[in-house]
Amino acid sequence: MPEIRNCPRCGRIFTYVNRLICSRCIEDEEQEFKLVKEYVYDNPGANIPEVSAATGVSVDRIMRFLREERLELKGNGESLGLGCERCGMSIPSGRFCVKCKEEISQGFKREFGLDRKPVEQPKDTKQQEKMFTATRRKTE
Ligand SMILES: [Zn+2]
Ligand SMILES: [Zn+2]
Repeated sequence: MPEIRNCPRCGRIFTYVNRLICSRCIEDEEQEFKLVKEYVYDNPGANIPEVSAATGVSVDRIMRFLREERLELKGNGESLGLGCERCGMSIPSGRFCVKCKEEISQGFKREFGLDRKPVEQPKDTKQQEKMFTATRRKTE
């Protein structure tokens, strides 16, 4: 039984498969993405407001293309207005600068004990066991 959803972009009802938006919006976005990509290719130094004005694609959407790392703008980082979400440094695309990406993945590994060789009980399981005995005691 196919799932029927409201497209969050245009409000139309569509059959949900694996994309969050309807097929017409996907086509629209692909079209916009192509426009932006072509413009950026022809105008490597352009910033977001310029690209937006030239292509008619909203600044928000261009920012999203950048955040999704589908698009990369060359040139003056500051004029692009895209900054690392962690430290604010200007970046050409994505959400974080190279340094923060590295630190985040290191922190992630540490948190889950992946940088250590000995196998440790994951914290969550221990906590769950404790909670389980606690609730059992209560009901006894
Ligand atoms: Zn739609
Ligand atoms: Zn950063």
